[in-house]
Amino acid sequence: MLPAWLRGRPAERREPAGAGVPPMPRGRAAATIAARLTFEGVERRYGDTYALQGISLDIAPGEIVCLLGPSGCGKTTLLRIASGIEKPSAGRILINDWEVAGPSRFVAPEQRNVGLMFQDFALFPHLTILQNVAFGLKALPAGDAAREALTVLARVGLEHYAGAYPHILSGGEQQRVALARAIVPRPSVMLMDEPFSGLDVQLRESMQEETLGLLRETRATCMIVTHHPEEAMRLGDRVAVMRRGRIVQVGMAEELYHSPAELFVARLFSEINEVPCRVAGGALRTPLGTFSVPGLSEGEQAILCLRQRGIRVLPPGQGLPGRILQVKFLGDVGRVEIAAQGFDTPLKARVRESEGWARGAEVSIEIDPTRVLVFPAESMESS
Ligand code: ADP
Repeated sequence: MLPAWLRGRPAERREPAGAGVPPMPRGRAAATIAARLTFEGVERRYGDTYALQGISLDIAPGEIVCLLGPSGCGKTTLLRIASGIEKPSAGRILINDWEVAGPSRFVAPEQRNVGLMFQDFALFPHLTILQNVAFGLKALPAGDAAREALTVLARVGLEHYAGAYPHILSGGEQQRVALARAIVPRPSVMLMDEPFSGLDVQLRESMQEETLGLLRETRATCMIVTHHPEEAMRLGDRVAVMRRGRIVQVGMAEELYHSPAELFVARLFSEINEVPCRVAGGALRTPLGTFSVPGLSEGEQAILCLRQRGIRVLPPGQGLPGRILQVKFLGDVGRVEIAAQGFDTPLKARVRESEGWARGAEVSIEIDPTRVLVFPAESMESS
């Protein structure tokens, strides 16, 4: 039982619900002892279908890795398996080389020192905000638990809501309370499932920055599920891209952007034009230039990817002739569609609004060759 002074009492809001959240940093969050998190050949089957297959991933102590991929690719299942909520069908999970799940051992979630944070924040409506934060500290005497919870609540700038109930909180405040609750037991591994998807766009970016700051302070090893490439790049030291239950590529944002292993990865990180071509004379010959095709054989069908930002739109006579079919105003950077000589389908290009291109204009185009990628055509099958 919490001390009487910390139990529920009517809340006095200091600002209307939904308004900006108050400034955050107060003091510092206690650092944890970060752990290495390892997946070795992990599988998860449901009947005949594989939710996960051949997952091997090593996350260094204190590292933040984002799991990125479309809905249904297995991200949440991997997170649940790491937490111990679910068991793998095959393979092993290790925390600091200690097997927590494998053929011969299964360690219960509460014994793994793992923190969990869910998409909907999952605050308990019938508990005060302080009780919510203190929830994971049941092993401590009530007074100590309340003190620790209050310290972390202060760290996220919400100690004045200690005795209030969650329903009065704005989305950003709920996110902070959920984060405080997850870090207060000082987990060595933090697992977060789409932690920002419930927030509106304006709030999302600032909450991402604050959360990142807090995670760095606690130094917990962290795995964050998201289906937003930009969020993954912003938060992750590395990003693991998943597709159909497998990890298709793991790397830093720059690696994934510049050297995507598959067309699927290229599509996630860049807006591209995909032009089917056939390898001839050891290269792809197009009206915009000849591009080398390392690893592809003569006559093989390939996909030439032209990044939309790599296409330069110029006045007529300076490059490949074309005509603007459509102009889409999107603020600072707009998109134009161009019928370009020798291409069967229109090409899309990103242009600065100030360039002022109009529909119907005769233009010419060039491609920056560093913004071209080539993949074998079989990688084109839909995700
Ligand atoms: P994501 O988080 O990437 O959206 P999930 O991990 O939730 O994907 O799901 C991966 C796949 O496993 C999906 O095809 C989903 O339908 C399936 N799946 C997940 N949980 C179950 C379950 N309890 N029973 C049967 N199939 C499941």
